[in-house]
Amino acid sequence: MTQAPRDPSLAQADPQVAALIRGEDRRQRESLRLIASENYVSRAVLEASASAFTNKYAEGYPGRRYYEGMDFIDPLESLAIERAKSLFRAEHANVQPYSGSPANLAVLLALCKPGATTMGLSLPAGGHLTHGWKVSATGIYYQSVQYGVRRDDHRIDLDQVRDLAKEHRPALIWCGHSAYPRTLDFAAFAEIAAEVGAHLVADIAHVAGLVVGGAHPSPVPHCAAVSTTTHKTLRGPRGGLILCRKEHAAAIDKAVFPGLQGGPHNHTTAAKAVAFAEAATPEFSAHAHQVVHNAKALAEQLIARGYSLVTGGTDNHLLLIDLTAQGISGRRAAIALNRGGIELNGNAIPFDPRKPFDPSGVRLGVASLTSRGMKTEHMEQVAAFIDRGIAEAAAKGGEPDEAFCTALRGEIREFLAPFPAPGLGEA
Ligand SMILES: *Cc1c(COP(=O)(O)O)cnc(C)c1O
Repeated sequence: MTQAPRDPSLAQADPQVAALIRGEDRRQRESLRLIASENYVSRAVLEASASAFTNKYAEGYPGRRYYEGMDFIDPLESLAIERAKSLFRAEHANVQPYSGSPANLAVLLALCKPGATTMGLSLPAGGHLTHGWKVSATGIYYQSVQYGVRRDDHRIDLDQVRDLAKEHRPALIWCGHSAYPRTLDFAAFAEIAAEVGAHLVADIAHVAGLVVGGAHPSPVPHCAAVSTTTHKTLRGPRGGLILCRKEHAAAIDKAVFPGLQGGPHNHTTAAKAVAFAEAATPEFSAHAHQVVHNAKALAEQLIARGYSLVTGGTDNHLLLIDLTAQGISGRRAAIALNRGGIELNGNAIPFDPRKPFDPSGVRLGVASLTSRGMKTEHMEQVAAFIDRGIAEAAAKGGEPDEAFCTALRGEIREFLAPFPAPGLGEA
């Protein structure tokens, strides 16, 4: 009898969880991943986030901690901060936020009094919950005024933003989105914020990778603070980041800890540092531009197949399709496509007549496919897969035949084989 090892591998210790991880790896290798907020991180980022830094408590900031044993944590967090500042050309960076939502709460805590008035893009127009939507803490503990997009072209209505700002005199104005396919005019937002004495905060969770790669303008020169996730187009671990002007540095740091959080997730800080270094390379900049080229190419291919895109196209990594003409809801289309190996999400379109849980549109992004090495010439096949899936789903009342789904999944697997998924290696 061999004795059981004292510290067995995951596969030995917990075959059930190990099998689920293997299943997820495989799913991510073999499906066409078009969820606009997702990506593939590098093997290096994955390794850093699975490190022994997860064992350590480090409440406080480099040089000012409440625990001992900071020999490696302090230099690690300082390195992540310096890399973030240089990457975004920001005066100050806080790398501790657990994710995008806590980062936004910390910004509010730092820059506004409780109950203050804020303004943000409404959720149905493409904004994020944390920009003051009524069910979010940011809409419960703060007075929130929401602006939207124009009815005719579905672009952000800066005249409405100015009118509402003058009427409500918000302490803080959010600009940023989760489902808006166009470039944001940060300078125009800054002008409005200055007119009413509000702090302008950009939340670039979706486009951070495009910003640092030079494929989208940077909000940093125009904003009091900039918040972001690190795991969307930036291709880092799941986490948050706040950048701000020097004058707000102390308030932001105090809001993150001890205002909102306890000990930072140091293993995530390590992975953030790795991702920031990756994102500072010329290769990443080329990748960011490729993301935008691919999104535009996919938009053209879908329009050629008769699809209606919100705003008529895209300037960034994401597209919103209005499926009204196809006669299928966004949710039913998303569920059907998932069965065929295509992942995207149902999404409200501006002025959507349908309910949020079963909206008229789907949202898709090309960041993950671009991370696998796809170029514009591959978007024709991607559009063809999407079109076939939606046509079948619409024809079968949202329930595509099993044989159709199996065949589509097989074709997609074959199509993806020459594009290895970063971090996951070969199948
Ligand atoms: C994704 C997103 C967030 C929230 O990030 P989590 O990490 O999911 O909390 C915040 N703001 C915007 C604009 C986002 O798109």
